[in-house]
Amino acid sequence: MITFNKPYLTGKETQYIEEAVRSMHISGNGIFTKKCQQFFEQKYGFKKCLLTTSCTDALEMCAILADIQPNDEVIIPSYTFVSTALAFVRQGAKIVFADSEANNPNIDADKIEALITPKTKAIVPVHYAGAACDMEKIMQIAEKYNLLVIEDAAQAIDSFYCRGAINRAPTQRALGSIGHLAAFSFHETKNIISGEGGMLVVNDERFVRRAEIIWEKGTNRAEFFRGEVNKYGWVDTGSSFLPSEIIAAFLWAQIEHLDDIQNRRKILWNLYYSNLLGFENLTGLGLPNIPSYATNNAHMFYLTCNSLDERTKLIAYLKEYEVLAVFHYLSLHSSDFYAQKHDGRKLPNCDKFADCLVRLPMFYELKKEEIEKICNVIKKFYEK
Ligand SMILES: *Cc1c(COP(=O)(O)O)cnc(C)c1O
Repeated sequence: MITFNKPYLTGKETQYIEEAVRSMHISGNGIFTKKCQQFFEQKYGFKKCLLTTSCTDALEMCAILADIQPNDEVIIPSYTFVSTALAFVRQGAKIVFADSEANNPNIDADKIEALITPKTKAIVPVHYAGAACDMEKIMQIAEKYNLLVIEDAAQAIDSFYCRGAINRAPTQRALGSIGHLAAFSFHETKNIISGEGGMLVVNDERFVRRAEIIWEKGTNRAEFFRGEVNKYGWVDTGSSFLPSEIIAAFLWAQIEHLDDIQNRRKILWNLYYSNLLGFENLTGLGLPNIPSYATNNAHMFYLTCNSLDERTKLIAYLKEYEVLAVFHYLSLHSSDFYAQKHDGRKLPNCDKFADCLVRLPMFYELKKEEIEKICNVIKKFYEK
């Protein structure tokens, strides 16, 4: 069986975990945590990074930092993972679900402005498959209405937005560095991993101090250990959001191989793409659409079938040939938990991806021959 995902180990994980254990600093915010955070700040231009125990936790920190109050509205794509919305729901927010673009699961930036009311507090773009949302448009809308932008960059490590007009600098900017706040995931299904794990990124100076306090259970412990205050105590709300050094040590071993991991994944992704290119004209099967302003971090290779029925049959057919392909999100606006609270608007593009999108195996150790085999099975399915 060709599995859908296989976590990749670089080989140094257990060595660094042993170092963390032997150093006798096993709780959080030690040497490995600081090394990881500094790496991301320097490489991607993030103002302040804080490792968390998951991306879900990082999103919860964002919701607290954004000071979301009951009945505040937050605009979120419906085609996303539960956590994107859940973090804000826990603060009492009303989620205003936005539709995807027609040819891309990302939030349709042109449809955001119509959803804004005096109660709107934040927009949460999700960079699906690591491909950038239209951040220039989203930041302009946010500025016009004085809203916060919180990037769900769970899948978007080492990916960039490159239209250039943001701050008039003609350079590309790392996803996660553009919004006021951002959240990454290092869950074992992502490009670089620590089992469970995540990271909060703070780009807006206003939130830096409070983020550290919320991270450390509402205390000013981090300032105390830097010698900035002479005692520490309870100063705010918060929780235990920081991971132990054991998790950070694992992540450090992955970070050391980031370029290698990304190169390999891009080779595999391009192999899928070149193999299936042209095929879509004959079958209506959709290939991933990477907008001109986005880079590809090869987080995921997905296809869009013509119907739910076709997708169900394709997944079953691939399984017959020992290939595990999987569908992805169900529309959150029609979920058991939220359907009654949703305002009833139809979100047809989101529903289309919920019904028709299928993800193919994508992991470091996937072999080129396996990709060829998978593509051949897909072609055979459509020839039938
Ligand atoms: C994986 C993922 C999350 C959740 O990440 P965890 O680290 O498992 O909490 C949130 N949002 C998106 C878009 C994801 O892909």
